[in-house]
Amino acid sequence: MELVLLPEAKSEEKQLPQAQQVVPDSDTLKEIEKQVESETKKGSIKKNLIDIKDKIKELTARSVNIGIGLSIADVFAKASKTSGLVDEKWANYTAIEVMNNLNKDSYAKTASTEKILLLPHCLRRMQVCKATFDEDGWHCKHCGACSISLIQEKAEAKGIKTFVLSGGSMVKKIIMKHQPKAILGVACFNEIKMGSEALGEVNVPHQAVLLKKDGCVNTEVDANEVIEKLEL
Ligand code: SF4
Repeated sequence: MELVLLPEAKSEEKQLPQAQQVVPDSDTLKEIEKQVESETKKGSIKKNLIDIKDKIKELTARSVNIGIGLSIADVFAKASKTSGLVDEKWANYTAIEVMNNLNKDSYAKTASTEKILLLPHCLRRMQVCKATFDEDGWHCKHCGACSISLIQEKAEAKGIKTFVLSGGSMVKKIIMKHQPKAILGVACFNEIKMGSEALGEVNVPHQAVLLKKDGCVNTEVDANEVIEKLEL
């Protein structure tokens, strides 16, 4: 399939995230791969991670229109296959960034009070957490042991309602009950992939932040990345 370079998406295309999908071209993906290789050979690990993430964000902004609907799973498959990116973590990160770019304008145009933030309960520090649970999920008591407290405070200062969910099955219930116009979610790659496909079907613009340490308990997210998205 022939790829067509689009330096800037047209405004009417930005309003139709479910109808147009973008994917980085092969040169862009090769550049990402080279950058990942080069950055991992030099400097501190922390600085490298920041550099790689910034580079991926910069490069995925230069996406191409392929004129058909691609799911995030398709984008991931294409990113891995075309670029030869062997590190699944960076291929996942690239796919999420592509999806974020696709949804960015329509997400940013939505009023903060019509957005919601979904956080996974696995961020809690189970041994000390005092959060209580009801049909809207976990309610943080702000002990400060995990990043939920800070992220929730920042979100709610902007009028963005926050839900700490016990699993992906709660997402649909929360959306049905609270009817958000846009969603920011934090999760592992598979949860984001499933959520993004479901939200694309109902045309709800969304942004996602990948967990930096996933698993079932005591997971971690870069709070600054979430706060950056809250500012959109
Ligand atoms: S900050 Fe909130 S969610 Fe995190 S461990 Fe403390 S009470 Fe639980």
